This record gives sequence, structure tokens and C-alpha cells, in this order.
Amino acid sequence: MPNAMFEARGRELLQGLVDTRQLKQFQYLTGSLGATATIEGRGEVIVLCSNNYLGLANHPEVIEAGHEGLRKYGAGTASVRFICGTLACHRELEETIARFVGTQSSLSYVACWNANAAVFPTLAGPDDAILSDELNHASIIDSIRLVGKATERAVYKHNDLNDLEQKLKTTQQKACRWVVTDGVFSMEGDVCPLPEIIALCRQYEAMLVVDDSHGIGALGTTGRGTPEHFNSLGQIDILTGTLGKALGGAAGGYVAASQTVIDLLLQRSRPSLFSNAVPATVACSARKAIEIIEREPQRVAKLNRNVQQIRAGFDKLGFDCHPSPTAIIPIMIGDEAEAIAKSRRLLELGVMVIGFGFPVVPKGQARLRVQVSAALEPQHIEQALDAFAKL
Ligand SMILES: *Cc1c(COP(=O)(O)O)cnc(C)c1O
Repeated sequence: MPNAMFEARGRELLQGLVDTRQLKQFQYLTGSLGATATIEGRGEVIVLCSNNYLGLANHPEVIEAGHEGLRKYGAGTASVRFICGTLACHRELEETIARFVGTQSSLSYVACWNANAAVFPTLAGPDDAILSDELNHASIIDSIRLVGKATERAVYKHNDLNDLEQKLKTTQQKACRWVVTDGVFSMEGDVCPLPEIIALCRQYEAMLVVDDSHGIGALGTTGRGTPEHFNSLGQIDILTGTLGKALGGAAGGYVAASQTVIDLLLQRSRPSLFSNAVPATVACSARKAIEIIEREPQRVAKLNRNVQQIRAGFDKLGFDCHPSPTAIIPIMIGDEAEAIAKSRRLLELGVMVIGFGFPVVPKGQARLRVQVSAALEPQHIEQALDAFAKL
């Protein structure tokens, strides 16, 4: 009986996760997320594990904009964009995103996952080559997997300019070369060497795609992300990013690029031709989030102050933190079981931090990933550091 066979195989796979301590525990939150959150059955904890970098996820204006969007447009249009699913609020959001990141145009998707999934299958041709950083986000990897077989693909070593240049040299005969990188890498908290990558792409006439999901809102003095951090605004062919991190934290993603790129995606990308648009309530919330960032750049400054405070505290406590300019601070533990035990202990002490092990990071490089938010006040950080001191 195939059902019984599947059931046995499925259970065995799950038991394997239990045995290798890879089984994820899910915490249920009973309310909105800010500096703290309330976990069902546990109570209030300080949050050091969300991408809510600017504290906008429960901002009253962001919430109200979502309400307004829901009242005005309803829950949705039960349609994809080219039928009757394109709302005025989509255009408003997309104009706002393009203005914010400095591109001609932009297109929103229900998630950055879908935005990335749209890019390569739509834009890369059979005579092209795609060069991808080895630590790129899973959605980029899957996007490249969706491209037709004829397209050449290569993975270059993480942030390794020599390896990238080597691969640009060996693909010179290709019609079009694509270089794709995360702006900020989520497990390391490091940034790509953007100015050097831009220079290589110019020299070898390659198209550059940067996924700035962890950078947008959080990096650069006015929150315009990794390009602003490196003074390279307007120099990237295609930017993708999420609305589900600093920009309100609900969901949604975008591609920001030239009008030609956006028109091609509008006409041809499967995630927008065959799947609904981002809901009005999310589109309106995200647009409001960007407006708030433009109005209050001091949120980014507060995020940076919080990062400095917590890094200084970790240094004092003698933790092994990767240095980086971002709000992602990996504390290297090494052993996976220990990283997980430490994150459990922190939760008991009222601080929510996640431990990551294999296969998310290489074996022996398990870590606690601390993420800082502008929602935190100095006393939250002190309280959290007290908990770390008890480890
Ligand atoms: C979080 C993240 C995504 C996925 O974003 P969603 O909008 O949640 O799908 C894509 N790329 C990178 C680099 C990310 O960090």
C-alpha cells in the first residue's frame, strides 16, 4: 500500500531529524512583535532573532496603513495582475520602492522568494552564464535551478573576487554574463564587496543582480541598503529585496531595475503571471514603512547604536563574534548541540535567540545568531547581556 510506504518513509525522515538534533521547535507568538514578544506557554521575552531591524512591524502608522488598504481594496481581487489583480496601491508601492532605491522602475511580488524566482528564468538566455556566490540565499539558488539547461552556471567562492574574475574570464564568449550576490549574507552578517564587484562587472560587461533583503532599511545612513553603505546607489543593474524584514516585516518582495527589466518581468515572469499579487493591506503597510524610513532616518542611527552597544557587551563577555557592519551578529559556538542548548537556556532566561547548525551552516560552525533591532531600548540590551553572561 503506497500510503503506508510513504507514511513509514516520512516518519523515518522525521525521526532522523530528531536523532541528529535538527528538528526545529516552533514557538507560537500570541501578539505582535516589538522589542519583546509573548510566547504561548512561556510569556514575554526579549527578541534578538527577528529581521524587524527598524521596529516597524508593529508601528501604529504601518498597522493603520494596512487597515486602510484592507478597507479600501478589500481582501483582494481573486485574480493575478494581468487579469484584474493590479491595484492602484501596487503602483504607488512600486513607485515608492523605485524612488527609494534609485532605479527607473520596480515590480512587487508576494515574497522576495518569488521575486528572485522571477529573475533568472525570465531574463537569462540559453547562451548566457550565471555566476553565483556560494553563500547566496536559497531562493537565488532555486531561481538558477529553474533556468533552462543550456544556460551555463558557476558558483564562485564566498566574496572571492579572484575566483569571480576567473569565472568571468572563462565565460567571455557567452552572450550575457550574470553575477548574483546577496548584499548582506544572513548567516555570516557580512556584506559583499560591492564596489569591487561592480568594477568587475563593468570590466567584463556582466549584469549585476544584488539581493539586498537584509540590507534594505538597515544599512546606509538613510536605510537604502548595501548600495548606500558603499556609496554605490544607482550602479546595480537589478536589485531584489524583501518587504518582510525591515520594511514592515509582513511579506512581499520586489525587483527594482530598468524599465526594460521590469516590463519583461511584467510580461513574462511566471510568479506574477500565474500567482496573485501582494495583498493590498501588505502593499499599503510596506509603502508606509518606507515613508517612515525616509522621514525618520534616526531609526537607522538607533539601530547602529544598538548594534554598537550589544557588540561592546559581547566583547566584554569574551564571546567570539564575527566582525561586521550589519545588525546580524553570529556568535560562534562550534558544536551544534551546544549551540542549541545555549539558545534554549537563553529562552529560559527570557531572551529569544536561535542556534543554527548543520545543514544551514557548515559542520562544526554552529552558532547563535543575534539580530539587533531599533525597537530595543538600552535596558533591553543590558537585560539580554545579563542573560548571555549566565551562559
Ligand atoms: C529573507 C530573504 C529572502 C526571502 O524573503 P521573503 O520575502 O520572505 O521571501 C530572499 N533573499 C534573501 C537574501 C533573504 O535574506
